[in-house]
Amino acid sequence: MSTRKLHGEHMLTDAGRVEWVSRNAQASALAASPYKWDFPLLARKPDLAFLDSAATAQRPSSVLEAQKRFYETMNANALRGLYELSVEATEAINASRAHVARFLGLDDRNDARDIVFCRNTSEALNMVAQSFAPIVLEPGDEVCITVMEHHSNLIPWQQACRAAGAKLVYMYPDDEGVISEEEMRAKIGPRTKIVSAVHVSNVLGVANDVKLMAQIAHEFDAVMVVDGAQSAPHFPIDLNDLGCDFFAFSAHKVYGPFGIGVLWGRHDLLDAMPPFLTGGEMIDAVTEQTATWAPVPEKFEAGTQDAAGIYALDAALTYVEEVGFDAIQAREAALVAQCMRRLSQLEFVRLIGPSDPAAHHGVVSFNVCTIHPHDVASILDMDGVAIRAGHHCAQPLLAHLGIDSCCRASFAFYNDARDIDRLIDGLNHVWTMFHG
Ligand code: PMP
Repeated sequence: MSTRKLHGEHMLTDAGRVEWVSRNAQASALAASPYKWDFPLLARKPDLAFLDSAATAQRPSSVLEAQKRFYETMNANALRGLYELSVEATEAINASRAHVARFLGLDDRNDARDIVFCRNTSEALNMVAQSFAPIVLEPGDEVCITVMEHHSNLIPWQQACRAAGAKLVYMYPDDEGVISEEEMRAKIGPRTKIVSAVHVSNVLGVANDVKLMAQIAHEFDAVMVVDGAQSAPHFPIDLNDLGCDFFAFSAHKVYGPFGIGVLWGRHDLLDAMPPFLTGGEMIDAVTEQTATWAPVPEKFEAGTQDAAGIYALDAALTYVEEVGFDAIQAREAALVAQCMRRLSQLEFVRLIGPSDPAAHHGVVSFNVCTIHPHDVASILDMDGVAIRAGHHCAQPLLAHLGIDSCCRASFAFYNDARDIDRLIDGLNHVWTMFHG
């Protein structure tokens, strides 16, 4: 029986043997992940506990094959040629654009034009802060964000406010990580022009009620921007339901390639925005002194696109849909709950974030008493456990929590109970090295 390209039909048993099991039977069992076999890196490194998917996810073979297939069968500069290969590359981009629209709960025929491809979430958010904000911000206006923003959704707003003479206002969570309606209404008001919030915090794991934030923002005619970098991998996104005006995410966190980001924006807003970058492919007509712009989305896609990456993102979304968000959510919730239960049994570990595991979306942050997170991560690495340690690009949040760094174990559906065992064993090792 082949053990390659198993798509979950084989699993690694606790004894380290490969056995056949149906994926459905195993979808909720955490003992050994049937999904690891879809991911060549994880299949090749059975002793690695990869607990850093919030930084970047592993890629399934279908995504790696798609990228290779593009270069082998349809490589040409999309949009520039009238020959068959170039047309195929263009069609691959368009098909992926339509797929992203569906992935976000939109109509893939009418709404795909509002999907802008860029490099990552950071670039998407910079596009909004640099191209949209100057249209609406005037001195004395306010931009409202949360204290739990990743720097990618914080520094662009600091810059935009500085340029416009506007004020950056913060919403703060309670001890359980919840930004209450009261807090939203205390901070969003008549001076607010833009509200921008992280959907799921990369440190606390909490999901903000961005739907309610959007409703309140709209009561004051403000625009709602959502950083979906940590929500898109974990649960279905329905932009019609969320009611926001801009939404950004990165392909590399949804099992797709590096270097591809998505910005969705309300069509009238994208239409009114000046281009972010200028150059080839984003123009309508150019004279020596003037230029006019191509329609959305081309207006925001200057230069040669990473067509292979965009094609591979299409494959990544197909993979996610095949696994299904029901299975993804069930497994990740069980993994997070088990991880938090086991960590809470270690008297030297202090958990960070909401006490309810159901409020965490793939992320469990913690600290080990008296031991610096960098030391914890380095020693865990010696035991084959990959976690993140540091400020997680969220320094204002950490300052708000009264710490300057922490450890973070982050989960994807491909993790299993053995990864958690290794983390716990590794932490006991860390503790005995320092205090044993
Ligand atoms: N926002 C959040 C919440 C994130 O976790 C990250 C990545 N860690 C980003 C934005 C930035 O994503 P990228 O590095 O892909 O631009």
